[in-house]
Amino acid sequence: MTYCGRCGRDLTDGNHESCAQALALEPPRYCAECRRRMVVQVHPTGWSARCSVHGDLVAG
Ligand SMILES: [Zn+2]
Ligand SMILES: [Zn+2]
Repeated sequence: MTYCGRCGRDLTDGNHESCAQALALEPPRYCAECRRRMVVQVHPTGWSARCSVHGDLVAG
């Protein structure tokens, strides 16, 4: 994990406590490894987020 999945900034840059709380409830917008915007789909059972480089991240 290098980048914040919610705000896309470096995890060492600032405080991401509120981001971490939000990510407990909603899908990430940015790939944690490359910071690309991910394609997020919300399903009745959860969500999936796809990075064009790193593939799918699934939760729910
Ligand atoms: Zn953040
Ligand atoms: Zn990625």
